[in-house]
Amino acid sequence: MTSIAVIGAGVVGLAVCHALRQRGFAVRLYDPEPPGEGASFGNAGLIANYATAPMANLATLRQLPAMLARPDRSIAIDPGYTPALADFGWRFLRAATPASFSRHKGDLVRLIREAITAQHTLLDALGGEALYRANGCLQVVRDGRGQRAALEAMAATKRADGVACEALGPEEVMGLEPELSARGLDGALYFPETRSLRDPLSLSRSLYQGLQGEGFTHVAERIQSLAPLGKGGWRLHTGESRAEVERVVLCAGMANNVLLGDLGVRLPVVSERGYHVLLKTPLALDRPVGWLTHHFYATPMQEGVRLAGTTEFSPPGKPPNARCWSRLADWGGALFGRPLEVERKWLGVRHSTPDGLPVIGEVAGHPGLILAYGHGHLGLTLSAETARLVASLVEGESLPDHARALSPQRFLKSR
Ligand SMILES: Cc1cc2nc3c(=O)[nH]c(=O)nc-3n(C[C@H](O)[C@H](O)[C@H](O)COP(=O)(O)OP(=O)(O)OC[C@H]3O[C@@H](n4cnc5c(N)ncnc54)[C@H](O)[C@@H]3O)c2cc1C
Repeated sequence: MTSIAVIGAGVVGLAVCHALRQRGFAVRLYDPEPPGEGASFGNAGLIANYATAPMANLATLRQLPAMLARPDRSIAIDPGYTPALADFGWRFLRAATPASFSRHKGDLVRLIREAITAQHTLLDALGGEALYRANGCLQVVRDGRGQRAALEAMAATKRADGVACEALGPEEVMGLEPELSARGLDGALYFPETRSLRDPLSLSRSLYQGLQGEGFTHVAERIQSLAPLGKGGWRLHTGESRAEVERVVLCAGMANNVLLGDLGVRLPVVSERGYHVLLKTPLALDRPVGWLTHHFYATPMQEGVRLAGTTEFSPPGKPPNARCWSRLADWGGALFGRPLEVERKWLGVRHSTPDGLPVIGEVAGHPGLILAYGHGHLGLTLSAETARLVASLVEGESLPDHARALSPQRFLKSR
């Protein structure tokens, strides 16, 4: 039987293990940490069916200087990280041209469509509504300028992408979420079919529990290097052990770059850090509410309301920027019209690509080495579909049309 090592026990690696076990493959999962405690622990919990537009577009480029200059910015670039961002930045600019944006958007729309079906099916199989809420989400506009026509146009664009979406006025928004402050509220986009997790860690734990038994081993060690074997397959080294396997699936987030770098494979996947605060203040929120100009969501979870978001291009291991937490609490205070008490602060590392699409596929010239990362803001949403695609690759099937654009080769071709 094909022996497969999956590196990384985040939601992506766990979903990959699940899909491989379902197809009868034996799997060794490597991660020194308990499952689901990386970026997968602290996200905003949205199965983001609405996320059909890559960030690289002309509108973002036009707004970026002003966004970066704001004292209460929700997007930041760490000057010390700019050398690592050079290739990403160049490709981001190219991805933002109208023709590239339109192509990537088409790819993302198709991917999201498949991903939502796959993720909903997985959630229903694992625990159904014990794991998620199915009452949609809101994205509010709070400029106090009355934006009905703009909201209607945005809702129409989403519907053209195949996403159920309505533009709501302030009274309708307050009817759905009376805890919000009406001050400055112009309205919202309402996505009635969006699901959100009650606790992202519960999903990872459910996946992990389902893996226990014959054919699955969790090796609680950190992979330090990978080396191809002359006869085919791969040798894995941790500080404590070695193993030989036929295939390796890299789901270790930003750590993939280090392992790939040793093999001479360099991809423009960068660290885009995000923060959350868990509120002590009780709020009767029924569904996630996003305030997009500040890039965060307030999501009701089992343990309380979580304010999660912000975008900080910064080295993965750098200490947190405490201002990001206080901004989240301040913005939350404005959204709900009262000061909020914070119980927990968290920082996580997204792994992001310039074109807004994940990297899924085998690396040319390295048979048996499969990548599954670069999911940016959408790793939870895309995890089940990523797993399905990886399992197809392992079985030697050709990838469906919507997955061709995700291959690592798009970044490895001549620059
Ligand atoms: C603030 C915030 C909000 C977000 N909100 C959403 C959202 O609402 N919806 C959504 O879809 N996505 C969201 N995301 C993105 C999502 O959380 C991530 O894309 C997703 O969790 C990535 O999962 P992963 O398994 O790839 O990475 P991780 O969860 O980070 O897992 C990687 C694992 O690899 C392990 N590892 C690292 N190096 C090694 C090694 N050398 N050997 C072995 N193991 C190793 C780590 O210990 C870790 O467990 C958000 C992210 C953030 C930060």
